[in-house]
Amino acid sequence: MQYAHVNADGLPISLPVGKVVCVGRNYVDHIQELNNDVPDEPLLFIKPATSLCDMHQSIHIPLDKGGCHNEVEVSVLIKDRLSTASVEKTQDAVWGVGIGLDLTLRQLQDNLKQRGLPWERAKAFDNSCPMSPFVPLSQFDDLTSLAFSLTVNGEKRQNGNTSCMIWNIASLLSEISQVFTLMPGDIVMTGTPKGVGPLNVGDELILTLAEKLAIHCQVEGQ
Ligand code: ZN
Repeated sequence: MQYAHVNADGLPISLPVGKVVCVGRNYVDHIQELNNDVPDEPLLFIKPATSLCDMHQSIHIPLDKGGCHNEVEVSVLIKDRLSTASVEKTQDAVWGVGIGLDLTLRQLQDNLKQRGLPWERAKAFDNSCPMSPFVPLSQFDDLTSLAFSLTVNGEKRQNGNTSCMIWNIASLLSEISQVFTLMPGDIVMTGTPKGVGPLNVGDELILTLAEKLAIHCQVEGQ
């Protein structure tokens, strides 16, 4: 089924589907678990619109390309064009916040990293970006202390809080807008905390965001 943005109340959101800008290495605990260096500026990459799928459908992982890892990430839906924006200007351009998975073929990514090649084969494939409905921004007091989590088969695997980000959401949006113009309907994924690991067919997932969202879904092969 074709992806479209949905409000947490179940109604469609009248914004087009655009690119997904992702941030790598924004939580120190995750940087340490993969033995990466702490970057001196946000590490950015893009997933295309074709990577998006509705998390309420099943999550489909490739079966023939090595381990496919979960990365649970707070995800921001953009409603207004943002280009070279100051940190203060960014909040007005946010429609709302959801929770997404930056699915990653880890062995393939390691292989590409070692060879100095781009990561798209490991991170930008079809259905690599399962996305929740979005909660309107007005329902949040503060984006700098949002708790979020991923539970796999009843065990809490990732437990994050946006207060642990190296770059908070407003500074990320400002920094990204210096590089890529963010358009209405684009999504920004803000990085994953520690606890990445392989998903398997049949896994039952629960993703939560700040007591606003609790999404149940199941992993299938693709
Ligand atoms: Zn990620």
